[in-house]
Amino acid sequence: MRKTLIVLIGVLFSGLCVEAQTKLSTHWEELTAEDFRDAIHQSGGTCLLPFGILEKHGPHLPLGTDLLNVRYAALQAVEQEYAVVFPEYYFGQIFEARHEPGTIAYSTHLQLELLQETTDEMARNGCKKVIIVNGHGGNENLLPFFAQTQLEKPRDYVVYVFAITESPAGGPPKKSTGVDWHAGESETSKTLVSHPELVHQDRAKAESGADLGRLKLPESLYTGIWWYARFPNHYSGDGSVATRERGEFEMKAWVDSIVKAIRAVKADEESLKLQNEFFEKAKHPLETRP
Ligand SMILES: [Zn+2]
Repeated sequence: MRKTLIVLIGVLFSGLCVEAQTKLSTHWEELTAEDFRDAIHQSGGTCLLPFGILEKHGPHLPLGTDLLNVRYAALQAVEQEYAVVFPEYYFGQIFEARHEPGTIAYSTHLQLELLQETTDEMARNGCKKVIIVNGHGGNENLLPFFAQTQLEKPRDYVVYVFAITESPAGGPPKKSTGVDWHAGESETSKTLVSHPELVHQDRAKAESGADLGRLKLPESLYTGIWWYARFPNHYSGDGSVATRERGEFEMKAWVDSIVKAIRAVKADEESLKLQNEFFEKAKHPLETRP
């Protein structure tokens, strides 16, 4: 009896070890070429491209806050719903922070070309469903534009953009009342979860994150200097009141919404079908009839 038990434990244990060895990494760069094949198969060709930036985040958060947080959320999400996550990507739109130290702002054409070549290369490697998970407010116009340009010419893959989500309702009450967009309570709270060791909360009051409202224009008018006009310190809100409890609540909501998006994308058979139909019709528009 005892011997059987020992054998049984032994079998179970070795089973666990094998499982630990064969569990595929979710990180593109950690997979071997052979495992990459299995990973693409296991993910149903669904890959995530978490998109960050390098820019000032108030006086108290690291330059890579958006990159660090979006990768944290994406990597948590794929633990629940498997997908392959592309390595660090931070080549987005951030001209409005070029007056601050540490900002890396690539030219417009390079941003678009690099992103196109990146998704093309991901697709060539089997990622037929690419979800760009945006972590940076300055990309919110760039990414839908990029997704729209995917109709320029035929492609055998679909680009989905997962936009930045608003702070969820409920949870531990927020302490700040005004705007809370950049390095404020919400973002600082989330960073207290993803990378607490990089948050210098004691410095959060060293600068003002108040809205200066220096442009008096109707809301329907957009101009590129609007952000600088309102938040010249590249700080919007108050990070000093952030808490880990609030961060845990917000981060969980973010992760849950990414999981939902991955599941919806995996189930989506229509987008590529419609894309193909559209490209076919676009070759001979005079024959297109309702
Ligand atoms: Zn940010």
